[in-house]
Amino acid sequence: MRVAVLESDYCGRHASGVNAGGVRTLGRPVAEIPLTLASSELWHQMDALTGDSGGFVAQGQIKVSETDDEIKILQERVALLQSHGFHHEVLIDKDAVHEIVPSIASHVTAGIWVKSDGFALPYRSVTAFRRAAQANGALVLENCPVTRVNQSGSSWQITSSQGTFESEYLVISAGAWSGKIAAQLGESVPVTPGGLMLMVTQRLPHFIDPVVGATGRGLSFKQFDNGTVVIGGELNCGIDIDEAHAELDFSGLANSARIVSDLFPFLEQISINRAWSGVEGFTPDHMPVIGPSLTASKLIYACGFSSSGFQLGPASGRAVSELILDGASQVDISGLSLSRFTPGN
Ligand SMILES: Cc1cc2nc3c(=O)[nH]c(=O)nc-3n(C[C@H](O)[C@H](O)[C@H](O)COP(=O)(O)OP(=O)(O)OC[C@H]3O[C@@H](n4cnc5c(N)ncnc54)[C@H](O)[C@@H]3O)c2cc1C
Repeated sequence: MRVAVLESDYCGRHASGVNAGGVRTLGRPVAEIPLTLASSELWHQMDALTGDSGGFVAQGQIKVSETDDEIKILQERVALLQSHGFHHEVLIDKDAVHEIVPSIASHVTAGIWVKSDGFALPYRSVTAFRRAAQANGALVLENCPVTRVNQSGSSWQITSSQGTFESEYLVISAGAWSGKIAAQLGESVPVTPGGLMLMVTQRLPHFIDPVVGATGRGLSFKQFDNGTVVIGGELNCGIDIDEAHAELDFSGLANSARIVSDLFPFLEQISINRAWSGVEGFTPDHMPVIGPSLTASKLIYACGFSSSGFQLGPASGRAVSELILDGASQVDISGLSLSRFTPGN
């Protein structure tokens, strides 16, 4: 099939290019797990798939508990996954946590560990996928906002600043703006725009390999190979969606900095060099909508990734292609269907 990507700005300008780079299967809702595991396999083949690693390193992700009560939460989580036949999240004790992260505070009580998780460089990864798609014949038009979509007869008409396009299939994957485009077609896709933020420290000598998260409080913490530490983890902030702008909230960043210095006390005096924010689309249950429209034929949604879609990107793209080419995705995405928001379901 011939594919055209119409991008209103440039590829990677929004969430996919400005996120924290976490490649995490750890902590996913059960309905997302088949997709996240399929995506993990693709991340491990990134070089072969695109000709560039995207900076992906499989240095693991760990989620730590800070109290005995939190150990129970971790135990219940692993038991839940095992009851569904998933064994990728492994419960480890305090000693094992300190072996994997020697610099972590002594009060940490246990953890969940996924060795094959890791992190990547977002803009580099998006660019690698874009170039690979173009090398395979995809047409990518940037600075090309779509202003109207409608279906007439057996084809879609897509009106953009660079003219009108016609296609048999339409995929709406416009991030935080997807709900608005669906509304123009008369379909309710509950994707609400919101902001997320990050901060980056000064360069530090290497002290940690995996990405660290906490159980009782929001944190995602990783050190890149240039020595900087990127701190995020569901750090929400306000947005102006018409301006495509997310506004940093310094009190939210300060809270996050406090969590970091609780878990890594030796970091208390380091400098934050910069912070940034991005616009993301959120659904009510924080899982994406991936699947066909409930009202129009040959229309597929892939949106509402709700703060964790960077890792899901590769397998989501493949699922969308299979929905179009084969009529079904090989990976079970039934729990991500738009129909879950239909009253009565
Ligand atoms: C600060 C931050 C940190 C994050 N950290 C992580 C993380 O560590 N790990 C993780 O897995 N996920 C993370 N995420 C979430 C992840 O980045 C997103 O879930 C994912 O990138 C969403 O991809 P998308 O394609 O849906 O949206 P986007 O990447 O935003 O792409 C949508 C594109 O649609 C374009 N568009 C919009 N309207 C139109 C139109 N009318 N016409 C044409 N084009 C249009 C936009 O310009 C945009 O480029 C983070 C997000 C942010 C913001």
